[in-house]
Amino acid sequence: MLKVLKFGGTSVGTLDRIQNVAEIIKNIKDDGHDVIAVVSAMSGETNKLIEYATHFSKSAMPHEMDMLLSSGERVTSALLSIALNEQGYPTTSMSGRQAGIVTDNAHTKARIESIDTTNMKQAISEGKTIIVAGFQGISQDNGRVSTLGRGGSDLTAVAIAGAIQADVCEIYTDVDGIYTTDPRIEPKAKKLDKISYDEMLELASLGAKVLQNRSVEMAKKLNVNLVSRSSFTPEVEGTLITKEENIMEKPLVSGIALDKNQVRVGMYGVTDRPGIASAIFTALADANINVDMIVQTVGVDGKTDLDFTIPTTDWEICKEVMQKFEEDAENIDYNEAICKVSIVGVGMKSHTGVASKAFTALANENINIRIISTSEIKISMIVEEKYAELAVRALHEAYNLDQ
Ligand code: ADP
Ligand code: ASP
Ligand code: MG
Repeated sequence: MLKVLKFGGTSVGTLDRIQNVAEIIKNIKDDGHDVIAVVSAMSGETNKLIEYATHFSKSAMPHEMDMLLSSGERVTSALLSIALNEQGYPTTSMSGRQAGIVTDNAHTKARIESIDTTNMKQAISEGKTIIVAGFQGISQDNGRVSTLGRGGSDLTAVAIAGAIQADVCEIYTDVDGIYTTDPRIEPKAKKLDKISYDEMLELASLGAKVLQNRSVEMAKKLNVNLVSRSSFTPEVEGTLITKEENIMEKPLVSGIALDKNQVRVGMYGVTDRPGIASAIFTALADANINVDMIVQTVGVDGKTDLDFTIPTTDWEICKEVMQKFEEDAENIDYNEAICKVSIVGVGMKSHTGVASKAFTALANENINIRIISTSEIKISMIVEEKYAELAVRALHEAYNLDQ
């Protein structure tokens, strides 16, 4: 089999941890498989590099940020390659460029356009284990290094697995699979054997950072057999992320996600006229701001209130954009002390009473819900950030996820 393995930051966080990864790869090689390993930067490294840049500038040129941040993964790929080679396993490390990964020019959040697998196929045919520096490629027009957004090594692994038609893509991290919620918040969370691409995509998009959302989207598109498992307990089988039809028993709710990186923007006393929402949200879209939940109240006396949420990282740009609309509202305020809790499950499509159970669970804890939004397989609620963990645990219990 050809296996693509990905090792995240904590899995390669120290030299001992890198040796542990070498052992995992050696065992898989000894079983007769070909291996392409994608590695993250050592844990904390990417954040440290961002801090270094911020010391000089709060708005560093995106292509220079990419030059800087891509170095973290290159360090790990070379170290792991050196370690394995020393232990008698022929290897070659590859940067994103050498692995043939071409992206668009959206530096710091580039999208993969294509992967030329020639180099990787050549190395495999020579019996080498390939160690790819995750999270990076080269941008097609300017030829500079690009990075794929935070958590982007997951995407590197899935995209390579899809392009080279690997038999499996295993994402090794510090938990042994996908749980009903973050086990660090709710120790009673249960590991799932399988979860559908769509549910995993919602959980990842709604804050469960165990897999990067774009990697799940790509796995679904390219039909990649995706497994989440632990480098700390490699003997334990992980969670398979697969097509919905491969899952026999469909629970009503599969998981709960929490996202603390949200800001609520409130516009009060907005002049209620045709085109106002269009003007505001077009301006935000033009600034590449990812607006999430939007609520407009019924207008009274020609005035209305408008609430929406954005990621904390877009807050500064959002404030700039909103300056244009100061005349249109009596007051604009920002609240960062909020979070979004979401319940996700394909079973919701065919059942009633799912939402009311969530609202009751939060009411019983005296937690006020500020905004609600629903789609076919999810319900999201904005609550005060200080209630984040309590809300997750209350919902987890309400749907009996610990059983
Ligand atoms: P890596 O550095 O390996 O990429 P991450 O820190 O990005 O790892 O993701 C792993 C973390 O995701 C876990 O330590 C866990 O706290 C968190 N997590 C959030 N939601 C879940 C979930 N539903 N199941 C498992 N882990 C989760
Ligand atoms: N090192 C990058 C990050 O911390 C990419 C990754 O680990 O996936 O976001
Ligand atoms: Mg990650």
